[in-house]
Amino acid sequence: IEPFNFNRLQLPRNMIENSMFEEEPDVVDLAKEPCLHPLEPDEVEYEPRGSRLLVRGLGEHELDEDEEDYESSAKLLGMSFMNRSSGLRNSAAGYRPNSDGTCSAHSARTVGVCIFIIIVAVAIIMMIYLLPRCTFTKEGCHKKNQPMEPIQPIATNGKLFPWAQIRLPTAVAPVRYDLTLHPNLTSMTFRGSVTISLQALQATWNIVLHSTGHNISRVTFMTAVSSQEKEVDVLEYPLHEQIAIVAPETLLEGHNYTLKIEYSANISSSSYGFYGISYRDESNEKKYFAATQFEPLAARSAFPCFDEPAFKATFVIRIKRDEQYTALSNMPKKSSVVLEDGLVQDEFFESVKMSTYLVAFIVGEMKNLSQDVNGTLVSIYAVPEKIGQVHHALETTVKLLDFYQNYFEIQYPLKKLDLVAIPDFEAGAMENWGLLTFREETLLYDGNTSSVADRKLVTKIIAHELAHQWFGNLVTMQWWNDLWLNEGFATFMEYFSLEKIFGELSSYEDFLDARFKTMRKDALNSSHPISSSSVQSSEQIEEMFDSLSYFKGASLLLMLKTYLSEDIFQHAIILYLHNHSYTSTHSDDLWDSFNEVSDLDIYLALKLWYQGQFLRERGMELSVQMFMDKMFPFYYSSLWHIPLSYVTDGKNYSKHRSVSLLDKKSGVINLTEEVQWIKVNTDMTGYYIVHYADDNWEALIKQLKTNPYVLSDKDRANLINNIFELAGLGKVSLQRAFDLIDYLRNETYTAPISEALFQTELIYNLLDKLGHMDLASRLVNKVFKLLQSQIQQQTWTDEGTPSTRELRSVLLDFACTHSLENCSAAALKLFNDWMASNGTQSLPTDVMATVFKAGAKTEGGWSFLLSKYVSLGSEAEKNKILEALASSEDVRKLYWLMKKSLDGDLIRTQKLSFIIRTVARHFPGHLLAWDFVKENWSKLVQKFHLGSYTIQSIVAGSTHLFSTKAHLSEVQAFFENQSEATFQLRCVQEALEVIQLNMQWVEKNLKTLTYWL
Ligand SMILES: [Zn+2]
Repeated sequence: IEPFNFNRLQLPRNMIENSMFEEEPDVVDLAKEPCLHPLEPDEVEYEPRGSRLLVRGLGEHELDEDEEDYESSAKLLGMSFMNRSSGLRNSAAGYRPNSDGTCSAHSARTVGVCIFIIIVAVAIIMMIYLLPRCTFTKEGCHKKNQPMEPIQPIATNGKLFPWAQIRLPTAVAPVRYDLTLHPNLTSMTFRGSVTISLQALQATWNIVLHSTGHNISRVTFMTAVSSQEKEVDVLEYPLHEQIAIVAPETLLEGHNYTLKIEYSANISSSSYGFYGISYRDESNEKKYFAATQFEPLAARSAFPCFDEPAFKATFVIRIKRDEQYTALSNMPKKSSVVLEDGLVQDEFFESVKMSTYLVAFIVGEMKNLSQDVNGTLVSIYAVPEKIGQVHHALETTVKLLDFYQNYFEIQYPLKKLDLVAIPDFEAGAMENWGLLTFREETLLYDGNTSSVADRKLVTKIIAHELAHQWFGNLVTMQWWNDLWLNEGFATFMEYFSLEKIFGELSSYEDFLDARFKTMRKDALNSSHPISSSSVQSSEQIEEMFDSLSYFKGASLLLMLKTYLSEDIFQHAIILYLHNHSYTSTHSDDLWDSFNEVSDLDIYLALKLWYQGQFLRERGMELSVQMFMDKMFPFYYSSLWHIPLSYVTDGKNYSKHRSVSLLDKKSGVINLTEEVQWIKVNTDMTGYYIVHYADDNWEALIKQLKTNPYVLSDKDRANLINNIFELAGLGKVSLQRAFDLIDYLRNETYTAPISEALFQTELIYNLLDKLGHMDLASRLVNKVFKLLQSQIQQQTWTDEGTPSTRELRSVLLDFACTHSLENCSAAALKLFNDWMASNGTQSLPTDVMATVFKAGAKTEGGWSFLLSKYVSLGSEAEKNKILEALASSEDVRKLYWLMKKSLDGDLIRTQKLSFIIRTVARHFPGHLLAWDFVKENWSKLVQKFHLGSYTIQSIVAGSTHLFSTKAHLSEVQAFFENQSEATFQLRCVQEALEVIQLNMQWVEKNLKTLTYWL
């Protein structure tokens, strides 16, 4: 699954500076987080982490240059332990804990004793903090919002339900489903019948499986030996969406049985499960369409099944339909029979063995374009009037399919591969085996209105879903806690394949940007390890679909690939796919495959990266100290094995990109020549932030000013990102960060300019929302002066490489948003010409949204855009119009837009989260958007499900620019009043944390900004 447009989602600010560090050292920090970190026996040796590390780091390198720096590095590394209360004193002899008199050190021995005492004290306090909250099991400790299991669940008929857990028992496993469905698209109901062949893996009386919203009319049971059907009773337990069948006889281990269930249900009106939609075709006739979206938990609402990813089985699907419709499913069609009542029944071939969440079927009026690729028929489907927009998708799919088959050395196993653009679809796309489903805007490409960003989006999402045919479909995670095995890989492969076969698209820029934003989010306390052990409830499962599973997963794979080399990496994943085809895995299976092809103990090296959370935000930041003798010791936590790469200005090292693993507490790189500076984390292939010593920052800044091109554009963007993140932490002054981007006058590449604009725009947004208009405009002027010449060079065309076209789009949007140069006038002229031609005159696509935004500022322009929105056929163009409509300064219009999208008629509900985010970003709408979310919360949750990425995006989008205490209390009170489960949602905790960090940022930087901006 590809949640719609993570990349464009404004991830929350992360200013890691944590007051609790300064006021209440060690204990609070260590005790607050344990429930997020599954403790395993082999990690015990690291405890107590902070103290030991700091002591060693400081003791061994008796550095006397800048004690502040020590303190910083200590904090960065998560070693709050000795900061304030232990008080570093300016003494070459060592450190003197705490002035309260417990210790006063003047000799190494006393220091040792003090440290020992402190360690013991911390250990005791930790025990006290930890014990009541956690039970240390292999699974770690459980989250608070995990639902309590009733001891004796009662079924709807008042009888005892034989199973009390959320996860199904494993005594019985499905082997094959035979499913017949008859949907009625006008009455929005369907009838179904499913025959499930089962195998008993243990002796049992009960068959427990998933089913929800079904009106079950008849259940029969059959043993393999006597083929006689026996009608049996069914017990329903809606809380867990389970039913139980009490068999008429004991099921014996190893024997096969058959269960047949007949039922009816409503076709869902949300975009989840088996759902129906209506739309108007070009002659304004109302049309009906039904499709499925089962991941993660909705297959159970379409048919009773064992709805967990590890229960793989084969599926035979039959669909009864009216003649004018086309029916599609995972497999090719086997037969089509006209029934007595004039209906047609399509039967599809028996599927390969797969998980229930990958089952899919679609009924609607569609056309397609197809091409054969070595025996696999690739088809792109769309509603008939949009068949002209499928060529790009077909070409792209054919190339990518070929690439993946070669790269994985495994043929795509089905005879067909359909990609379908669905008129209403909540996610971005879904990887159902053989039947990929998409939003229209993520599959269709219109030469006249799709921008280069749209082309990249379509290409990337196809690449993502195709990669899932191997990662996810062929080999599946055993349970949702390892979702990253699906999504991290698909995301990694998406960028990797694009770089290999569509290099001209420069998709590395997007991947880099995604890594920056993911680290911001990951640095929040509310973040989570990508492989989490406490995932049980449906909200917890939904919450796994966040940008960490996708982009942190992908970032770690990139780091691994860079370290191991491309060949070994490829070899390992081929092995993994071969070894686990048609089965399910957990993360260790992946590390095992890497260990087989590499000398390195990957598990040891990487497990902290994927399990670690404890020291994550502080631990990954690397402090670099430069010495006169050109040696570079690195401080870091022993918990982290950090793949280090670097470049320097020296002749011998300028191209030094090899990666070494730092697996000790400090490391030294010996250079054979004198260098001015070192840049660590070459091309930002490592998932960490680097903090340099003052003189190294200065040397880097000087280098950027004299000749920035010594460093790659990725490195330049990386430096901009790191220095602003560190400035947010207070580790570097904001002024120095601005000093670094001073070189932008000479910058011509997209990645560094985009990152600088992103960082400064965040600051602008905070100032603007607090009403510091003067300061905000001074900031804009400062940035404008840096980019003035680049802005002046831009033309209102679609000329150039994809990368320069995107740069144009970013720069002109910046200039027009802040009314710089004569940008708005030029945009308005283009808009007026376009409007005068009734929208027939073609506009340059990359700046189309900017042109529309200029036009939407006038009353007539806004109304004209709305009329075009309703009547146009290109989703790419409609999205640009919608962005312009939602950027209006008229709050009545903004409110009306959100309301209409919630209704879902004129503007589809799938657009709502995008509208809310856009409205909230600008001053006139930012309070309105939050009001709207509060007012309509129950409807939003009903439509999008608690914990879903749409809800995550709405909560973050409507709150991430708040920076006052009043707003913090209000947001907190609002969610507290909903329910405990709502308040505990990760996105809610994240929203609160972001507001607090914004407050701290403002408090810390406002005065300084006033002074020097
Ligand atoms: Zn996916």
